[in-house]
Amino acid sequence: MAIDFFSDYRMTINGQLVGANEQIDVVNPATEEVIAAAPDASREQLEQAVAGAKAAFASWSQRPVSERQSLIASIGDAIEANAEEFMRLLTCEQGKARAGAEWEVGGAAIWCREIASQELVPHIEDQGDGRTVEVRRTPLGVVGGITPWNFPILLAVWKIAPALVAGNTMVLKPSPNTPLCTLKLGELINSIVPAGVLNIVSGGNELGAWITRHSDIRKISFTGSTATGRKIMESASGNLKRITLELGGNDPAIVLPDVDPQQVAQELFWAAFQNSAQFCVAAKRIYIHEDIYDEVAEALVTFAATIKVGDGSQQGTDLGPIQNRMQFEKLRDLLSESQKEGLKFLVGGDIPDGQGYFVPITIIDNPPEKSRVVTDEAFGPVLPLLKFTDIDDVIARANDTEYGLAASVWGKDVDKAQAIAKRIEAGTVWINEVHSFSPHIAFGGHKQSGIGIENALEGLSEYTNSQTIYTNSNAGAN
Ligand code: NAD
Repeated sequence: MAIDFFSDYRMTINGQLVGANEQIDVVNPATEEVIAAAPDASREQLEQAVAGAKAAFASWSQRPVSERQSLIASIGDAIEANAEEFMRLLTCEQGKARAGAEWEVGGAAIWCREIASQELVPHIEDQGDGRTVEVRRTPLGVVGGITPWNFPILLAVWKIAPALVAGNTMVLKPSPNTPLCTLKLGELINSIVPAGVLNIVSGGNELGAWITRHSDIRKISFTGSTATGRKIMESASGNLKRITLELGGNDPAIVLPDVDPQQVAQELFWAAFQNSAQFCVAAKRIYIHEDIYDEVAEALVTFAATIKVGDGSQQGTDLGPIQNRMQFEKLRDLLSESQKEGLKFLVGGDIPDGQGYFVPITIIDNPPEKSRVVTDEAFGPVLPLLKFTDIDDVIARANDTEYGLAASVWGKDVDKAQAIAKRIEAGTVWINEVHSFSPHIAFGGHKQSGIGIENALEGLSEYTNSQTIYTNSNAGAN
């Protein structure tokens, strides 16, 4: 099916592509130009989407799982067949450069196919004497999905694929900052699954709040900030919705003295700055042992000078702009406060005049542990390097945060690195690598970085209830 990716953005509601009375302007963050208008769903349209999803649940949930799996796998094929258009549109609305767009769109196709290979098999126990106990998983009903603006396609697929494979139907809302790729994804999926199975509604935060309070929605799967996660947990309580919350992070990286400073510097650079550091699992505080601190810092600064920040659609750009004005202004404020505090900038720090939400790569030399650049989730390319001498001390500093999403440890002595990893309060700890994900490996945050798991059978099971059936075949025996 041929889709025009560059105009006519409509929502998918109960199998129909529809506009709305109100519109949201979508801005290209590299140029600040309005590139499109997306529908701003009314409350009535949300009601239609939920009603469509509720009606579709009856037959979708009863379809053999193999049929659902095969349809979700073919969504992966359709994403791949339209990859070039998705990548171009993603760069226009999100800002990321080509390599990042390839990673995201390619990942979305892989996720659909791999999640489609997963199944929660019922467990049957023979109790003897003609009695059996079957423990099986049943779908929940209508699931509400809410996504952020940093990886709009991949994070939507992380929700759509398991929700639908498990037999649920869905109403998903993208961020108002990046609705375009998700609307086109909805159009594409609408040509594959029956009407009402997947509904995409675009709109602002209020639409999100309506979804989380809706009494016919049985679960919310949310990726976004911790502040919004707290609100969702509260409003989802009305009908005891299940919730999966993937929230913010302030990931520490701990660099031990036995690493090669030159080699580790490049890996640390990408750990911190990938997607212009608009990454929940970006390394956001780098603790470097004092013996190699100066060498690693210098190598990071040298490597940073080789990176081109610019319009993601131009060849040779490594890192794009900040995705939206609000985030850009937050970073401007953080930088100006850091300058007033007298922090030492090894590189960057000044936002240039001109078009586009561009923040330069900024590296700060050993700021106080309580400064905002260390304690806050910057969600932009502002990176503090911190010195340490003692392992117990650095672990305590790494854990001294409300967040617990991910972390990394860098060292040649792998036993030592693993011993440190096990003492870190985070859902994922990488050793000598970062940002490895798999549809078959659990991902989720500790502390205020979230509740629940995405990916793996554990993530799939969060889209289900557990049901136990006791059968006594000795009917009338007593
Ligand atoms: P956000 O919380 O502001 O918005 C996320 C989504 O929630 C948007 O679609 C928004 O419209 C909606 N929303 C806002 N208020 C709402 C409300 N009251 N009720 C329901 N929905 C509401 O987050 P953002 O700025 O789009 O994304 C950045 C944040 O997301 C960062 O904190 C980042 O760390 C986090 N994030 C986490 C992960 C993860 O997997 N843990 C992944 C990516 C991003």
